[in-house]
Amino acid sequence: MTRIIDFHTHLDERWLHVKCDSAADMVRTLDRFEVEAACVFTIMGFYEPCPAHNDALLRRADQYPDRLIPFATVDPKQGRAAADELERCLANPRFRGVKFHPWLQAFAASMLRDTMLDVLQIAARHRVPVLLHDGTPPYSTTYQVANLARWSPETTIVLGHAGSADYVDAAAQLMRDIPNLYGCYCGPRAGDLRRLLDLAGPEKILFGSDFGAAGWRLLPERIDNVLEAGLTDQQLELILAGNAARLLKLDERPLAQPLLPHREEAR
Ligand SMILES: [Zn+2]
Repeated sequence: MTRIIDFHTHLDERWLHVKCDSAADMVRTLDRFEVEAACVFTIMGFYEPCPAHNDALLRRADQYPDRLIPFATVDPKQGRAAADELERCLANPRFRGVKFHPWLQAFAASMLRDTMLDVLQIAARHRVPVLLHDGTPPYSTTYQVANLARWSPETTIVLGHAGSADYVDAAAQLMRDIPNLYGCYCGPRAGDLRRLLDLAGPEKILFGSDFGAAGWRLLPERIDNVLEAGLTDQQLELILAGNAARLLKLDERPLAQPLLPHREEAR
């Protein structure tokens, strides 16, 4: 069994009125399904001011620095303040990426082009990937997200759902045609992995489950969607871990070991 890195999960206290898994719950789930590490994103930071949520996410992830890899978020509607907040977060090497949810954050990237370009350039300078929710109109179609990769060719852009179900064909073609565009296989149907692979190739696909916000059950189902797709060992290794390790630069920047043995998150 190959190693697994989950490139798309959520770690937050709550999703609106629903309580979410704690960091300890999340790591228990990772252990249960033999997942080595997970990129963790906020949820409420897409609805509420980002800085406090970035700090809270970092605090949660820091309980398991060898397992949980936080991605910061900023609100491009804030203009210069968004760029400043991203610089503040990425000054801490624990943040290894940036996450946007244009639908929930209610922005059209094309109308905030200057700020988005600033933010994408900051990410490129810090050599971290930028993952965006995609697959849903009006602000998060796969085409809109892919445009960002064309605006800023030096930035690594990841389609957070590889087109989801509706845009999977577009995602596969765009991932094939745009060198700095990747796709997280997180949401498309089981049979769609083959299509993504045939068009975009195994180096462009990352495994993600989206678990954490709505319980653990998404994780084993989505692992099985990959394991049962009839891939070669080499394709499995790239999609389940190798591509994530490369984008996160785990070779040159290994995840920190915890200073103390893992402890339960205070509830
Ligand atoms: Zn998500």
